[in-house]
Amino acid sequence: MHKSALPLSLWRETATPATAHSELHDNVQADVVIIGGGYTGLSAALRAIELGLKPAILEARQIGFGASGRNGGVVSTKFRVSLSDIAKTHGKNVAKRMNALGHEAMSCVENYIEQFGIVEADLRRTGNIRCAHNETAFTALVEEAKIVREVFGDTSFTILDAKAVAEETGSTCFFGGILNFHAGIFHPLSYCRGLAKAVLANGGSIYESSPALRFTDEGGEKRVHTTDGSIRCKQVLIATNGYSDISSATEAVRKTVIPFRSAIIATEALPSAIFREILRNDRSYSETRRMMRWFRRSSNRLLFGGRGAFGKNDSPAAYAMLEQAMRDIFPQLKEYRVASRWSGLVAMTMDSLPQIGLIEKNIAFSLGYNGAGIAMSSLLGRYAIDILQGKQPDLALMQRQKPENIPFFSMRAPAVRTVAAWYQLLDRFGR
Ligand SMILES: Cc1cc2nc3c(=O)[nH]c(=O)nc-3n(C[C@H](O)[C@H](O)[C@H](O)COP(=O)(O)OP(=O)(O)OC[C@H]3O[C@@H](n4cnc5c(N)ncnc54)[C@H](O)[C@@H]3O)c2cc1C
Repeated sequence: MHKSALPLSLWRETATPATAHSELHDNVQADVVIIGGGYTGLSAALRAIELGLKPAILEARQIGFGASGRNGGVVSTKFRVSLSDIAKTHGKNVAKRMNALGHEAMSCVENYIEQFGIVEADLRRTGNIRCAHNETAFTALVEEAKIVREVFGDTSFTILDAKAVAEETGSTCFFGGILNFHAGIFHPLSYCRGLAKAVLANGGSIYESSPALRFTDEGGEKRVHTTDGSIRCKQVLIATNGYSDISSATEAVRKTVIPFRSAIIATEALPSAIFREILRNDRSYSETRRMMRWFRRSSNRLLFGGRGAFGKNDSPAAYAMLEQAMRDIFPQLKEYRVASRWSGLVAMTMDSLPQIGLIEKNIAFSLGYNGAGIAMSSLLGRYAIDILQGKQPDLALMQRQKPENIPFFSMRAPAVRTVAAWYQLLDRFGR
């Protein structure tokens, strides 16, 4: 089980070569053990190093094996919940703080790329267009844009009518959209591997194929055990997001998230003439459907992703649905084949927001990014280390007293299928 590799994806075909990290075969020491080698864990390690601590990352498979090596590479300031909904439920000040944290998260990614020279991540702030799949969705987008402008003073977006969205995307399927400049696209696995390289270069340790299996207490400290070794440490961070059910070491957070499968297909290389017709400004694009689908270019290939009732494993039927949706939106692609496809797990929480906090004095957690976590996991990894050091950052709605479990967790599989089917139905009937 622990030897399984990353799925063969476009990212794996084109990423910066991975640095080899050994398995843990010894009994060693560190200040902080970080469980999970995705953006949360890697960023936490970098923050620990900044504070003069010695971190060690335990990764069950390989660096970037989880969502961090498989995602769509759309970097943005967004949460799964809209800022206007947050303002309605929790007040304008809370929404303003959440907005500020979203921007801080985006800057965090930009700073890492600059500081550690991760040029292969190829981050470009080309903006994102949310494309309305019906009139009602377009009206809601325009309303949301007004609130964001009035409450947050944010003017860096443009409302596009159906014609302008058709010019931008090359598809006549949409009723309008919002172009937001607080977003970029990058190569997710190269970013991940770049962070790992920076951790190693600055004195952190990384062990791959080394799942944390359990902790024990030892003279006021912790010992984290793997199959063939252990690390004695003062503090532990759990950074396992949608992959929190691999071992009992992460039992305390397992029920805080529902792992939801999200899939991506990539076309074969397309002639440059196609990109004079579609996605000509090389942005990222997402739909307003509940079962959201999104698309972007990566070099001369088109990526199309989305969620559905994909279940625990990949299924040919689910990929076929995604491919059909891509061809419906872009009939221009009818002659071109899908060359790679892969999926990964996003971690959904009860209130659709990330969770960060302490399980006990020296054990922290940060997870539940709800499929919008590239920037936020990079930021919260840092804050999780600060919290372990006794700092009290203002993380608004994300800060929790303890991991908050999903009620009726044992019902999650049928619940996911039911919710997915219901959402698909509402999307189909234009609600
Ligand atoms: C298909 C897909 C598309 C996405 N697209 C986007 C996007 O375009 N934009 C965006 O912002 N977000 C996107 N996301 C979400 C984003 O990728 C995640 O929020 C982010 O990568 C979470 O990082 P993480 O480090 O918390 O978790 P992960 O990257 O999932 O890492 C968790 C790691 O923990 C390891 N692990 C688990 N248990 C143990 C154990 N016991 N011992 C040791 N290691 C363990 C796993 O092997 C895994 O590598 C997408 C996600 C998916 C799956």
